[in-house]
Amino acid sequence: MHPLKPRDGILNIVPYKAGDAKIEGFKTVIKLASNESPMGPSPKAIDATIAAAGAGMHLYPDPACTQLRQAIGEVHDLDPDQIICSNGSEELLHLLAKGYATIGDEIIYCQYGFIAYPIIIHGVGATPVVVPEDNYTANVDAILAAVTDKTKIVNLANPNNPTGTYLSTSEVKRLRDGLRDDILLVLDAAYAEYVDKQDYDAGFDLVNNGLDNTIVTRTFSKIYGLAAARVGWAYGPKTILDILHRIRGTFNVSALSQAAAIAAVHDREHVAKTKAHNLKWLPKLSQALEELGMTVTPSQGNFILAHFPGGPEQAQAADTFLRSKGIIVRPVGNYDLAGALRITIGTDSENDALLTEMTAFFA
Ligand SMILES: *Cc1c(COP(=O)(O)O)cnc(C)c1O
Repeated sequence: MHPLKPRDGILNIVPYKAGDAKIEGFKTVIKLASNESPMGPSPKAIDATIAAAGAGMHLYPDPACTQLRQAIGEVHDLDPDQIICSNGSEELLHLLAKGYATIGDEIIYCQYGFIAYPIIIHGVGATPVVVPEDNYTANVDAILAAVTDKTKIVNLANPNNPTGTYLSTSEVKRLRDGLRDDILLVLDAAYAEYVDKQDYDAGFDLVNNGLDNTIVTRTFSKIYGLAAARVGWAYGPKTILDILHRIRGTFNVSALSQAAAIAAVHDREHVAKTKAHNLKWLPKLSQALEELGMTVTPSQGNFILAHFPGGPEQAQAADTFLRSKGIIVRPVGNYDLAGALRITIGTDSENDALLTEMTAFFA
């Protein structure tokens, strides 16, 4: 017997596999695999990062992210004291599980929910409870039916990755209203900036009007194009933030990343431009793929889930074919969606190339 044992749950984790960034034999590739922004970050964010690097790499960053929280507060009309920043929003998801759940507790997430959730749940030794979806969409009644006296947290990505589907404001409110007050609802709104629906919001009102048991997480990795900088944030009640501050890394957001995010959040023009590009391509790409015989799940993110009529075999063949042309999309067999591929919206020319090769594949 090996003498050193990890804590319960950890060996249940299937390690996260990031989207590939390279193909052997290709100098450059078209990477549509990780929901990164084809527009990149605001040029102002790059300038601010360089300036911050020049000003003091030997100094610890502001551990409270004061200026960044102020900037986010201004833009979203939120109290900076109810904002916490993090090393990517994924860190916050881990901290919330660590702060509120342990061995023997249950954490709920949805059938096609973000793959980080089972990793996070096993990481604290809690038990994942996976709830069936309806048409690739979270089902509030099914979530409520899955609650037991052991339930501590409900994780909901809204919109969800990899499906792109979302729940309306009223459905999320119905979920909150139906949950016990001592269950934490974590609304992971990584793609909120991309959503173009009147009946959607990220959930700030639920935080404001609630019982200190709802938190909304956000990220600079998606529409802001700062995935490399690793900056996330959350809006929640001070009671929850107090718990997160106790257990987070003291200097969890680097000075360079804080500078990048502050500049990025103020560049509303860049955000608007990125959103407009996405809204132009979502219907265009979806329609074109459907004309080729695919079924595309309606998406509110910067990606689409495209289902192949020929199922898993054809999806795998398409993935292989695209790679042979230097295009990387995301297989989603790890989500039990082996008959589909997740395709991130790219630049104009990347999307054109994707369509050209998909057309060639089906021909
Ligand atoms: C990309 C993504 C995140 C954000 O991850 P970061 O750690 O902020 O880069 C969170 N949730 C979902 C559903 C995502 O797709």
